[in-house]
Amino acid sequence: MKICPESLALAKELLLAGQVVAFPTETVYGLGAWAYSAEGIRRIYEAKGRPSDNPLIVHVAPGASLEGIAEEIPQRAEVLMDRFWPGPLTLIMPRDKDHIPSEVTGGLETVAIRMPSGAGARALLSFCGIPVVAPSANTSGRPSPTTALHVLEDLGGKIPLILDGGPCEVGLESTIVDLTEEKPLVLRPGGITLEMLKRWIPDIDLDPGVKGAISVDAKVVPKAPGMKYRHYAPKGHLILTNAPAERWKQWIREDLSRASEEQGKDKTTVRIGVIASNEMLEDLEQEGVLKLCHAAISLGYVKEPEMAAQLLFGALRQADEKELDIIYGEAFSREGVGEAIMNRFVKASAEQRIL
Ligand code: AMP
Ligand code: MG
Repeated sequence: MKICPESLALAKELLLAGQVVAFPTETVYGLGAWAYSAEGIRRIYEAKGRPSDNPLIVHVAPGASLEGIAEEIPQRAEVLMDRFWPGPLTLIMPRDKDHIPSEVTGGLETVAIRMPSGAGARALLSFCGIPVVAPSANTSGRPSPTTALHVLEDLGGKIPLILDGGPCEVGLESTIVDLTEEKPLVLRPGGITLEMLKRWIPDIDLDPGVKGAISVDAKVVPKAPGMKYRHYAPKGHLILTNAPAERWKQWIREDLSRASEEQGKDKTTVRIGVIASNEMLEDLEQEGVLKLCHAAISLGYVKEPEMAAQLLFGALRQADEKELDIIYGEAFSREGVGEAIMNRFVKASAEQRIL
């Protein structure tokens, strides 16, 4: 879906006036402000309700120079920029303190930079010719938006413009890589996987803080400030599990009878839903367990994790729309983009049943 020139012109006018504009990227929808506008930056934090120590990513147009953003470009960054830009990869570099306001970086001496490949983002950034800070265009804590409608749900009435470019292709936020320290680290897993990065930077690894968030080890603090927050959680109780379908069936039946015994409730008033692969949904269908559920939300086929990545945030939003009380979520393999899927899914979950 192409964004018309009139809309781009309006967006540019708003950004230069210190306003915010939501726009599509290949990862998720971003809430953009001019990176040099203190007013615009303030409005981002306000509209999202975002904690001010959670820094923003600066987005640049294809071919744009990083002058006035990064103080220097580390040599290893050049390698990754050549290979993966434009694309869903954010690189941490030393901040150009004369130009990038400290509000952008939450007071850090480094700055996060990305050159998006999504057609809408490219069109906007090229048209405006300015660096644009753009966190995900959701209310802080909610699943990131992967359609313009998701943005409208969260920020409708709070921001002056949403550019609609259709659904995002990747569906999860960018991979973040820090190259400012001796040991190169992935601070947030995303569409560009650890395996892809290792081909170019063999000693790169996952930040132990990210692994910590996965194993719920509170002693290890993630290096990307935003990764420490609980995120994406639906209102219902999300149980993430790698158990086979037989266990799901047992649990769902137990939940229903417990609810009817304990609260004297009619079984149907407890709203149970599942977020799972097509294979799992078919298994649950067989003994009629799916009929006991209020929602069967698909993440596509197990063999196509890219599809699950694209669908996950929408699936979590659907859980709220359907007002589910209990949600069973299927754990995916951590291979490839599975690492990023599981990173977000774990953050969204209230409980994990890993066998
Ligand atoms: P979002 O804008 O919602 O995609 O979140 C941006 C993420 O980038 C957050 O998790 C931030 O903590 C992280 N980030 C931004 N700037 C930096 C930086 N200079 N160093 C480390 N992490 C950063
Ligand atoms: Mg976000």
